[in-house]
Amino acid sequence: MSGLEVVQVRYGERVTTKSAVLHDYASYGLPDGDLRMDYNFWVLRDGSRTMLLDTGYDIGARDWLGEQPVIPTADALALLGIDPLDVSTVITSHFHYDHIGHLGLFRNAEVVAGVAEYDYWFGKWHRAELDGEFATAGHLEAVRLAEREGRLKLVSEETEVSPGVTVHPVGGHSPGELLTVVEERLIMAADAAHFYEQIENEWPFFAFTDLGEMRRALTFINRLAAETGATVIPGHDGRVRDRFPALAGPAAGVATVLG
Ligand SMILES: [Zn+2]
Repeated sequence: MSGLEVVQVRYGERVTTKSAVLHDYASYGLPDGDLRMDYNFWVLRDGSRTMLLDTGYDIGARDWLGEQPVIPTADALALLGIDPLDVSTVITSHFHYDHIGHLGLFRNAEVVAGVAEYDYWFGKWHRAELDGEFATAGHLEAVRLAEREGRLKLVSEETEVSPGVTVHPVGGHSPGELLTVVEERLIMAADAAHFYEQIENEWPFFAFTDLGEMRRALTFINRLAAETGATVIPGHDGRVRDRFPALAGPAAGVATVLG
């Protein structure tokens, strides 16, 4: 049985609609409806390691799409008994603001990212093309600092980044989007699949850099789940909290135990 506990932390939320966030939803001929969209990061830990998948961002400083703050990342970590300086690894699913906004808190961590993600965003930064994008120079500064300090690990293929934790570059939503698989029992889709509907129907999200790649990523998720029996966790679906228990203790209101 596994040593790693996987905890989802909801730091923000908003309500959206299927037609607003699912690509070409009208073409399915189905009624519209609300979707509870959670903004999460994830803690993977055992007796000797504390790792994060993504970091959240400061909603109070700027809500990009009407996100409502639930708890600042630093406060959530305190409730979980985690000192950011003790986090050994931060896997970045991709470099969008809501995933790497607080990367700078984790000054000692190895930062894992897709090489395609790095190339895409640093290329945009160098060409002064970040205006109106889903990441700012400030966000990328934290990546660059990790690189300067020798803490950046760029991956281009399936890679075990810590025992039992494997990342798979899939792209689609963003060029270097990573899936994270924990001990072949949890597939952390992050933004390769925001919502359960996308996994069940292989429906793309409205925001992508490569639509074909996004469709292939959804097919890959389902194939991996079928082969391993792993449970898929969509990255932004409020219903994850209905399907898994709250973490006991002071973080119960924001933390959900996935396994
Ligand atoms: Zn996201």
